[in-house]
Amino acid sequence: MSDTLVAMGVAACATVMIVWLRYLLVSGFFAFVTRRKRPGLYDRMAVQIRMEIMWSTLSAVIYGLPAGVVLWLWASGTGSAIYLDAAEYPWWWLVAAPIVYLLIHDAWFYWSHRLMHVPAVYRACHYVHHRSHPPTAWAAMSFHWTEALSGAWLIPVLALFIPIHVGALGFVMAVMTLFGVTNHMGWEIWPRWMVHGRLGGLIITATHHDNHHRKNKGNYGLYFRFWDRLCGTDVGFSRFGADRPDRRRHEGRGTGPGTSGHVAVDDNDRRAAQ
Ligand SMILES: [Zn+2]
Ligand SMILES: [Zn+2]
Repeated sequence: MSDTLVAMGVAACATVMIVWLRYLLVSGFFAFVTRRKRPGLYDRMAVQIRMEIMWSTLSAVIYGLPAGVVLWLWASGTGSAIYLDAAEYPWWWLVAAPIVYLLIHDAWFYWSHRLMHVPAVYRACHYVHHRSHPPTAWAAMSFHWTEALSGAWLIPVLALFIPIHVGALGFVMAVMTLFGVTNHMGWEIWPRWMVHGRLGGLIITATHHDNHHRKNKGNYGLYFRFWDRLCGTDVGFSRFGADRPDRRRHEGRGTGPGTSGHVAVDDNDRRAAQ
């Protein structure tokens, strides 16, 4: 029994390191891309970035522990819904399972995020994430530990009950990481035709989530705009600080898409949480 606990603890610690290194590598990579594509965008933000890395490091521990336990359960064959043999379930489930995971994760995130904006909960938990104003690529996991707890259990628990191929689970983790980092970069990595086209009406990109950080309300979703649209909380796209004189110099410097000309919806980025 004690050997089992030690093995589980080792797996959990190893997963914490993997989650943390993944954060450093992916956020570091996109911070590097930002420096190349939007020179100066993160200037004078060293204090905020240090804060984002500190809270993200604590979040990596909180996210890594339950994930490590479930991975150990899978590796030891003692119980999880993760499978290795693709033939174990119908082929279409390889595709459907990650979609189901992402839909459930998105629904949980939307409703828990809305709860986080109840003023008392915001002041106790969610204010940390909104200290990223505007966010940077390092803000992907910048949560108060209570908020990290609210999100860390979901995917590991789903992996106990809803069958998913290990590769499909890796895909879910990759999507989670990519959305978490790129939606906080402070600029749009996807082309304008996509963001302002049909796909951008369905999925959330930086242009959408950045407006959440500027308005401090609305746009609560994680992957999809479905819940925000259904519940009337979709507040549209950010202009990435075009209305802020101190950041105006960054606009138009980039060579990529999404630097300016977005739908004008944000004119009060200091609004208190509601
Ligand atoms: Zn929020
Ligand atoms: Zn955010």
